[in-house]
Amino acid sequence: MVEEFTRLSDAVVPRLYSLLLDINFETSSFSGVLDVAVEVKQETKTVTLNSRELKFLSSPVLKSQDGVEVKSNSTTTNEKLETVSFEFPEAISVGKYELHIEFEGLLEGKLCGLYESQYISTIDGSTKRIATTQFEATDARRCFPCWDEPAIKAVFQLTLNVPSNLRAISNTPILDESTLKDERKLVKFDKTPIMSTYLVAIVVGEFDFISTFVDEVEIRVYTAVGNAYQATFALDVAAKGLKFFTEYFEIPYALAKVDLIAIPDFSAGAMENWGLITYRETRLLCDPESDSLSSKIDKAGTICHELVHMWFGNLVTMEWWTHLWLNEGFARFLQFLAVEDQFPEWKMWDNFVNNVHYPVLISDSMESSHPIEIPVKDPEEIKEIFDGISYAKGGSILRMLNNYLTPEVFRQGIVHYLKRFSYRNTQTEDLWQALSEISKVDVKSFMEKWTSKIGYPVVTVEEIDDSKDEISLRLTQSRFLANGKKASDDTIWSINVVMRSPNGEQKFLLAKETDVVTLPRSWNDSWIKINYGHYGFFRVSYPDSLLQKLMDPISLQILPCIDRLGLQEDCFALAAAGKIPITSALEILKAYQSENDPNVVSSICSCLNSVRRLHSGQIYGDTIDDLINRQFEGLYRQLGFEEKEGEPVSITKLRTMVLSALSRHPDVIAEARKRFKAFIQDPEKNKIPGDRRGLIYSLAVKYDGEEAYNAVLDLYDKTPLQQEKQRCMSALAKATDPKLLDRTLEWSLSADVRPNTAYVPVITVARTSYSYQTGWLFVLENWQRFYDKFPTGMKDVLGHVVLAFASNFTSMKNSDEIRDFFEKNPFSEGKTKIAQALELITVNSERLQREKEPIERWLNDWKSKQN
Ligand SMILES: [Zn+2]
Repeated sequence: MVEEFTRLSDAVVPRLYSLLLDINFETSSFSGVLDVAVEVKQETKTVTLNSRELKFLSSPVLKSQDGVEVKSNSTTTNEKLETVSFEFPEAISVGKYELHIEFEGLLEGKLCGLYESQYISTIDGSTKRIATTQFEATDARRCFPCWDEPAIKAVFQLTLNVPSNLRAISNTPILDESTLKDERKLVKFDKTPIMSTYLVAIVVGEFDFISTFVDEVEIRVYTAVGNAYQATFALDVAAKGLKFFTEYFEIPYALAKVDLIAIPDFSAGAMENWGLITYRETRLLCDPESDSLSSKIDKAGTICHELVHMWFGNLVTMEWWTHLWLNEGFARFLQFLAVEDQFPEWKMWDNFVNNVHYPVLISDSMESSHPIEIPVKDPEEIKEIFDGISYAKGGSILRMLNNYLTPEVFRQGIVHYLKRFSYRNTQTEDLWQALSEISKVDVKSFMEKWTSKIGYPVVTVEEIDDSKDEISLRLTQSRFLANGKKASDDTIWSINVVMRSPNGEQKFLLAKETDVVTLPRSWNDSWIKINYGHYGFFRVSYPDSLLQKLMDPISLQILPCIDRLGLQEDCFALAAAGKIPITSALEILKAYQSENDPNVVSSICSCLNSVRRLHSGQIYGDTIDDLINRQFEGLYRQLGFEEKEGEPVSITKLRTMVLSALSRHPDVIAEARKRFKAFIQDPEKNKIPGDRRGLIYSLAVKYDGEEAYNAVLDLYDKTPLQQEKQRCMSALAKATDPKLLDRTLEWSLSADVRPNTAYVPVITVARTSYSYQTGWLFVLENWQRFYDKFPTGMKDVLGHVVLAFASNFTSMKNSDEIRDFFEKNPFSEGKTKIAQALELITVNSERLQREKEPIERWLNDWKSKQN
């Protein structure tokens, strides 16, 4: 019989967990004594809570308020449901009790629950051991038995028994510290606010830190001993971020301190434990010498993202994981607001459209996508929704709503919502309600379909010739699918269509399948940009007449960069789905000949790369490289390879984009190889700036064989910086010699590579057109070794690896191979990604058949016109 997942009963609920944990590095284990104040709300003989891989040392005891103790007479664990049930001889009547439980568990390197991480000290070369936690979504139960559901909030008071030379850190400040025998100490922490179990955190180890205050709140950034110099950037961003959100939300930060700590072995990017935010090192620490601009932008984003959660997620929490987007969508959207505030020169909203909005429009166009709100049950399903839909689509539809309601009204609605639900749990509907009360707009009817339905629409525009003076457009919406098919569902979204001409702006709410909008007379004969600003989460299909009128405003850059970017993204997506000829998408690039905005350049490059990947095995494949080179080489001539002193950030960014677009251009290749040789000969004299390192290392490995390969491997071994190690790993995956490629993949599975970064080489190989086939065979042959190498908390990342390989495939044979392979090798942690992979291969295969002939003809014609 298959046991159905059910949520915990609310017959008995926790109010205060008093937890004493004894952490023992010598035996790689921990033991705990938990006294939890519970309220019995319905008479029961059994208390059931969550527990996983814990051993119970004695029979739990239930103590009533008048001191009567009852011992449980049986303890039953259920591995499938991850629960433990304590049965008592008599029914327990309604009232308040204290439940006493003693247990123990293992301290392993699983990267979930309470686990061990290590680092090598840069000061004395010794190994430093750390005990740390990662509980979201469902792994608090691996550390102590608990009601491990976000809605079952309680207060936590932790006490840790640890070696006396180590620092113990938790959510709240230390209340009391006392020395024990055998060089151990007892550290008692202040009570937490009422909160969910997944936000509890513990870190024990040797660390340095730097700190500052924002109002009364102390902010510390902790690093491995000797690395505090890498914390300056993070501390500055966090201090400004905390101030920004305190003002934006009009609610003070709830705790006395917030710590940000870099953990050497970490499964996610970062985790928003209340008061003790944990980060992967590469998401927090910045080396002033070698960090690139793009990595600083990413780090500032992650730092602010976690700070948003102190309110969105921690203070107000989703009632169940189905509403995860209330955490992640908000954090994704508001992190950009805070970073934009600190670094206006970074143009964060242009970055948002390029790196958040458009990528998720691509993934959400698959039939195998899912709605933002999706019923989830067991831990594996829950883990799978920490994906682009919750984060990026969630963030994108909030940007849309922010624009629709206007930023200030949106903010006031958010403040209202957070104040109303502080220390409580919510569902999506509660948010709509609060926003409606402030805005006086029916937010639910505007937003409901965007969160409850799968996918998004394309708005097809037709000009109506009604012989009147005015111009009328017929707008028709239908779900956009990457395979170009008609969707089986007939969702009608509420679409705020913003239209712009040189003579003004007009908005139109398209809430039917088809509607007609009449535009002012003054708009006759002028260009009309639809979805102006690309706030709307949809694509636009223009009639040729309107599209042609947009070419001049694009080439003259009258249209803002977001609109130039969005227009070509939509055209390439429509072409990929077979809605317009691929040659039409290529034609419009002529209007982008003098494009010089970094995000537009990057987006054109990724659209062309997707064409290049699909056609890379064809005889005309190389001509696509020529086309890409021709598109960007003018910019390269202007910008050069080297940064000029005092140049604006936008130019630095543009150069990085252009060089990466031109990674197959002979001049760029030659320059990179030359610089790498010089750098290896004399690294001090011939420094490579951070912005250029990744590209130069990769091109050196690709073109200079074993000598460069060994040099990069040596750089990896010698650097203490994780960011630099990551660059080296990607570069080593760029080898062209199959023997070297094999060596990289073997090495990624060896003890020389930390399990939490083992995915970097293999995913780089998957994204490399000349090596993915060799890499795929290696993965299939070594599947079990990859599975074992990836820590328990990161098995799902292997699903991303499979998807990355599959995105190259154009033959249904590959699809059969993947299906057969995973039938024989069940991989439940990656089932969504496998479904997406299979769908993508079908889309690619149909697309290639459709595009082959026209693209070859178009390219031959293009080639004949080049000198
Ligand atoms: Zn988050």
